[in-house]
Amino acid sequence: MNKFYITTPIYYVNDKPHIGHAYTTIAADVIARWHRLKGEDVFFLTGTDEHGEKVETSAKKAGKLPKEFVDNIVGAYKYIWEKLNIKYDYFIRTSDSSHVKVVSEIIKKIAENGDIYKGYYEGWYCVSDESFWTELQLVDGKCPSCGREVKKVKEETYFFKLSKYQNKLIDFYNKNQKFLSPNFRSKEIINRVNDGLKDVSITRTTVKWAVPFPLDGSHYVYVWVDALCNYISAINWPHGPEFKEYWPADIHLIGKEINWFHSVIWPAMLFSAGIEPPKMVFAHGWWTVDGKKMSKSLDNFVDPILMVDKYSTDAFRYSLIREMPLGDDGDFSEKAIVSRLNNELVAELGNLINRVLTMAERFEGKIEGEAELDQKLNIGKIDSLMEDVDTFNALNEIFVFIKATNKYISEKEPWRLQGRELSNVLYNLLEASRIISILVYPFMPNTGAKIANQLGIEVGTIDDCTFREWTSKVKKGELLFKKFIQ
Ligand SMILES: [Zn+2]
Repeated sequence: MNKFYITTPIYYVNDKPHIGHAYTTIAADVIARWHRLKGEDVFFLTGTDEHGEKVETSAKKAGKLPKEFVDNIVGAYKYIWEKLNIKYDYFIRTSDSSHVKVVSEIIKKIAENGDIYKGYYEGWYCVSDESFWTELQLVDGKCPSCGREVKKVKEETYFFKLSKYQNKLIDFYNKNQKFLSPNFRSKEIINRVNDGLKDVSITRTTVKWAVPFPLDGSHYVYVWVDALCNYISAINWPHGPEFKEYWPADIHLIGKEINWFHSVIWPAMLFSAGIEPPKMVFAHGWWTVDGKKMSKSLDNFVDPILMVDKYSTDAFRYSLIREMPLGDDGDFSEKAIVSRLNNELVAELGNLINRVLTMAERFEGKIEGEAELDQKLNIGKIDSLMEDVDTFNALNEIFVFIKATNKYISEKEPWRLQGRELSNVLYNLLEASRIISILVYPFMPNTGAKIANQLGIEVGTIDDCTFREWTSKVKKGELLFKKFIQ
């Protein structure tokens, strides 16, 4: 049996979940569900990043110990994933003692390999992003990532010899063309690595809510190093059967702002520790909201729970995936959700299933015929798009089939037919609907299950996406989607 291991980034507990988090996690869920429908042994990991200065400060403000504080808010993430119908296999928390132990062990391995040394760090630090920047990287003296004030820091620190891995990384990228995905983003990383790598600071002395640095009691592990290790601590590196089974990960799905950490620092750490790197790091784009960048000052972070309550889980999942190719940037607007809900989900998909079930219920007699609509289904293309992590075009291709099925109805005009001719058209429509229930399931699990239920069947697998004999008895239920009227 093929294994398939996919991860989201672990989300920072101090941030309020917004559509950026929702998008990454929904996309990962869609991909994981597709692979499950292919009969693969899937492991889908998500979780929370819980250490660092911001959490320490927030906990203090709330009059709580950091651990108490994070225990209280981690539930917000679990709740939202439940609302979005995210079926993860494991939820990792970086404050778990098993994770802390793994971070410590990896650092010892890297040190044994001679890749850690003590020195002084001088530079600029953004508290909000927990990122160090050099003088050159600052934009107008401010953080290049978020635009906030940065503070000058000089402290004793331990460095990881990232510079040592420059050639090895370039060689690895050349041999593993899919590692830097999507392809158009790979150039930027390769150019920066070719320009030369600086060793990176991996410890701090001022932040205490962190993993203790195993080589020196006065230091703590830099939160980013700690966070990256979640991908192997969750599967019990080094001796756990899960690690042996699932590693290397097939896809680390991330947002492009953390691409450097995942595409450069992480594989270099793994090389040093003698662990194989993941097969692919896929960096997706950013969302704007109504044409504007999401920011604290505009207070335009969209709450996914409000969207789900207003438009339904499936309409929200569908809209996010249908709005932009996974690698590109895109714009989020409620207007777009309403338009997709009314014009695509209600008018194309919902209406199709409703018409097919109405006709099938009225028909008395055996439904049988010759496959004709199968010509319009390109399951090989859809699957290869999904294998390429192209959820956007795969969903478009599924809707090509849905549209073709609607067109088949208007061409055949089944309301004018009877007997064997009508039976033949119904056979094609029911088989198409059965296959549609499977194809939409990873994107809209509730909808896929509802269609299957009304057809009197269970949701099948990707292998079941071929026309065969129709044997079940339909029972029309409630409409799949309701038009949203403002
Ligand atoms: Zn910043």
